Amino acid sequence: MRVEGEVELVVVGGGAAGLAAALKAREEGIEEIWVLDRNERPGGILPQCIHTGFGLHYFGENLTGPEYIHRFIRRAREEGITIKLETMVLRLTKEREVVAVNPSEGLLKLKAGAVILAMGCRERPRGSLLIPGGRPAGIFTAGTAQRLLDLEGYLPGREVVILGSGDVGLIMARRFAMEGVEVKAVVELMPYPGGLGRNVVQCLEDFGIPLLLRRTVTHIHGRERVEAVTVAEVDGEGNPIPGTERKIPCDTLVLSVGLIPENELSEGAGIELDERTGGPFVDEFMRTSLEGFFACGNVVTVFDLVDHVTLTGERAGKSASQYLKGELPPPRRVREVRPGENVRLVVPQRVSGEGPVTFYLRVSRPLREARVEVGGKSFFRKAVRPPEMLTVELGKEEVGGLGGEIPVRVLGKPLG
Ligand SMILES: Cc1cc2nc3c(=O)[nH]c(=O)nc-3n(C[C@H](O)[C@H](O)[C@H](O)COP(=O)(O)OP(=O)(O)OC[C@H]3O[C@@H](n4cnc5c(N)ncnc54)[C@H](O)[C@@H]3O)c2cc1C
Repeated sequence: MRVEGEVELVVVGGGAAGLAAALKAREEGIEEIWVLDRNERPGGILPQCIHTGFGLHYFGENLTGPEYIHRFIRRAREEGITIKLETMVLRLTKEREVVAVNPSEGLLKLKAGAVILAMGCRERPRGSLLIPGGRPAGIFTAGTAQRLLDLEGYLPGREVVILGSGDVGLIMARRFAMEGVEVKAVVELMPYPGGLGRNVVQCLEDFGIPLLLRRTVTHIHGRERVEAVTVAEVDGEGNPIPGTERKIPCDTLVLSVGLIPENELSEGAGIELDERTGGPFVDEFMRTSLEGFFACGNVVTVFDLVDHVTLTGERAGKSASQYLKGELPPPRRVREVRPGENVRLVVPQRVSGEGPVTFYLRVSRPLREARVEVGGKSFFRKAVRPPEMLTVELGKEEVGGLGGEIPVRVLGKPLG
């Protein structure tokens, strides 16, 4: 079967970003909104994040992932927004054709008035790490281990080593410990943890789990099942130092080694991508380089908190609605945002100057008594760390006063 038709607004991805975008568009008066998601249930990654720590900023409450996202799912249903599940978007074209497939309707070919990209991100797999060893069972990405444990009720292992101290890895260390699993160590290549400070304290220190900094896994042992991993210290370039190897017996290796925004569809449509973020270049309206396409959430850059994801979703939903109504200010005087000293990435990368701007940025090195400079304006922060996203807000007037390019840099003293 083949379904063809026109839809005012298509949102690709029904996670925190996509649902926030759809709800905002409804609030702005858009009647026909289709959210397409390949999963069996809406909500993206959040239904499997059963720990608390969600919504502290947006709702001023400490919610679990399911509690947070169900507020949006419930409202989307009350508002009559169409959420098509098990619907995989296969292709987007610059004419805003959306090709998708699902088991009940077959192929769907839609012509959208506007498209919002909200596909989230995916985990880096073992293949991208080139760790020598066999292919035994017992190697999982942190997100897969989380899904097995929290949604499907399986315990992936009994003695675990976690490689990578990003938030997902830290949270899984605690989840395993709470299930009586022995977490032998969390191993991190960098000299500092990859996740939020609060997660290091609440997930490792509170449970007595060792964090081994400046180290990596150099070998995976075992034929049928993981039996041990070798961990070695690394030099300043991240290369293992011979003679520092230590074998840690374990039956499971969990990988938490980075997230990659999911942008094959964006690339296929011809949307310009930023090498630093791995996501589309956007302006303050979350407008991409392709007319009628907007983007939000982790597909743009990997955000630390869902609150930011939701806010970018709302911004994209509002902008797409304004676009559909012919009310979105055209990008008249586009200024490029230039990441400078100690800035790993910044979003938005372009500013049209037609409204206030929230800049989201990440630093490369931790600093204390830091000065964040955006277009010559300074903002002070007690400390800045790579895992924590910095936000800087500029009003429309302030943005209007900036020059042709907006340099961004973060200066300060080394954090001991
Ligand atoms: C383990 C873990 C712990 C976290 N802890 C916290 C925390 O304590 N506090 C906090 O604030 N944040 C936390 N976060 C971050 C937060 O959960 C995310 O930032 C947020 O949920 C991302 O939302 P999203 O909508 O951008 O992406 P996602 O939730 O990933 O949603 C993207 C959706 O797009 C769909 N999709 C992708 N491609 C296609 C396609 N081609 N066709 C159809 N559908 C598609 C996917 O199926 C998915 O449902 C955590 C995240 C993880 C993974």
